Amino acid sequence: MISAIWEDKERRKAYLHPGKKRLLPTLWRMYKPVRQSPRILAACVGYALSNGVLPLLGVLVTYVLVGLLSSSAANPQTMFMAAGIYALAFFLCSALSNQLNNRNYTWFTWLRLDYLNRINAKLMTMDLGLFENSAFMDDVQTGFYSLNGNNDGLEGYYHKIFESGGTLVSVLLLSALLALQSPLILLASLAVIVIGLAAKTHLVKLRYRHQEDFMRHGRRLRLLGSEAANFQAGKDLRLYNMAGHFKKVFEPVFDANMRLHRMITGRELTLSFLESMTLAALDIVCACVLVNRRLAGAISTAEFVMLLSATVLYAQTILEFTQQLSFIKAESLYVQDTFNILEAQLSSLSDTGKVPGEGPVTVRFEEVSFSYPGSDRLVLDNLSFEIKAGERCALVGLNGAGKTTLVKLLLGLYQPTSGQIYINDVNIKTIHQDNLFSLFGAVFQEVNVLAFTIAETVAAREDGIDEARGIESLKTTGLWEKVSSFDKGIHTPLLKVMQEDGVILSGGENQKLMIARALYRQNTRIMVMDEPTAALDALAEQAIYQQFDALLQGRTSLFISHRLASTHFCDRILLLDGGHIAQHGTHEELMAQEGLYRHLFTTQGKYYQEQEAIA
Ligand code: ADP
Repeated sequence: MISAIWEDKERRKAYLHPGKKRLLPTLWRMYKPVRQSPRILAACVGYALSNGVLPLLGVLVTYVLVGLLSSSAANPQTMFMAAGIYALAFFLCSALSNQLNNRNYTWFTWLRLDYLNRINAKLMTMDLGLFENSAFMDDVQTGFYSLNGNNDGLEGYYHKIFESGGTLVSVLLLSALLALQSPLILLASLAVIVIGLAAKTHLVKLRYRHQEDFMRHGRRLRLLGSEAANFQAGKDLRLYNMAGHFKKVFEPVFDANMRLHRMITGRELTLSFLESMTLAALDIVCACVLVNRRLAGAISTAEFVMLLSATVLYAQTILEFTQQLSFIKAESLYVQDTFNILEAQLSSLSDTGKVPGEGPVTVRFEEVSFSYPGSDRLVLDNLSFEIKAGERCALVGLNGAGKTTLVKLLLGLYQPTSGQIYINDVNIKTIHQDNLFSLFGAVFQEVNVLAFTIAETVAAREDGIDEARGIESLKTTGLWEKVSSFDKGIHTPLLKVMQEDGVILSGGENQKLMIARALYRQNTRIMVMDEPTAALDALAEQAIYQQFDALLQGRTSLFISHRLASTHFCDRILLLDGGHIAQHGTHEELMAQEGLYRHLFTTQGKYYQEQEAIA
């Protein structure tokens, strides 16, 4: 369904970025939490007023002091009193605006982190295949871009709009003061704002047009960086001296990135020159108007000095205001991208259905074909089979036959290119993701241990852990002896990335941990094991097999192993070859047939006998 969209650039763009990006709807949406909070609204208004009057206070004190100096009433007391009143007013306004700004800062940070949580949750439920679509992942990076820091993107936007309230009040007050002298000043300032905004908008659009390139380069640089520092790959990188190769891959990406930055910085330099010229022109207009008015006797010396100092502040304030407006315009594009990702339907699974009833389920593949994203090669080709409720099936086949792929489709992690998969006659597309996943106890071939405690890993949760059940699961897999020898027992942290006293288990021990996790999970209706013992030694493997009866009880099970002899506890064997089930039956039935199974079994048998003879 939606998977076809991602293959085509235009369709992907149309899907993820529907309609034109408009500032006002984005603002309306972003300010929903602000609109609903009278406290924050009051803080916005309070900040705008208290911060916005600060430049005017400075201008007024100039007027009062120069006026006093040039009048006969000038004496130290009145001068100090005027300066004191100014200092007090300045202190009160700036203290209030700083307080309001600082207190609201963390609230805006919280809003950003909340969006970050939501987008992370979205990624954790999207179709897994999308991770393999690098063009889509660049789009995702764009979506994350506006959530990256305090001063840019969504949070920067909130802060900037908050601050721009104060600047707007300053611009209005100073404009009113100066426009009283001549409307020419108002016209000139409007011209400066319009030219400044046009220049900045040009830059914003230029940068945004290249955003996809920035994201692509940035993602590649980060990936290369993390691969270079990857502890797991560290042995291979050193042994095969791959640093030089990394440098070679790194350099073109780095150069392309630098070329883009240089092009945009060059354009910025030209436009900043234009901006300085317009501001200088505004200063000249203001100065000419004021000098004329003073020479014509229309304003006093005190007013002249006050208005001149207002002119200087005016240019600065207008510059700040145009910068804030252009920032808001620029960041709204990126914020809109974040909203687009949040709104897009990225999972092909339904959000309602479930498989009714309890107990083991039937699994049926009907004419399922599948090719990985970005590839035309059919890994599974018109594949049909059924596993009955409670049946134990082994899935065997050569490396690359598509066994793991079949499991990924069954778990709903990828969608078939064509054909349907049913669990108890319910099409898995119609099953809610959580309901679908809760049907399975699964152990995968590749083991991904995260930096949680052993108990948290086995229970796959942080709280409400049934410790006794966790220990029981660890005992079944033969890992309890080792775990109980740790000082913190089942609460020992894994890995050393978060805690110094974390433990690093061996490949086989990690695999036992993963089996324990599948065992801990209650009420599962299908057990799927993809080479669950690949990293175990022969004794540990044998010990686990002895537990399999207890382990699989009451569940339909699909067991993948390249060791054909290890499938003896299964009711039926499915042999995958050429993208479909080439042979199926019991071990005896398959051995009685001329075919790949018998060939594989006898070849493996010879190999293991030879191994035993050597040993
Ligand atoms: P098996 O589990 O039987 O060894 P897999 O299901 O892992 O086989 O792989 C089947 C085929 O699909 C292989 O040719 C492999 O190269 C390809 N393949 C596996 N994973 C991916 C992927 N993420 N993207 C593209 N091709 C893949």
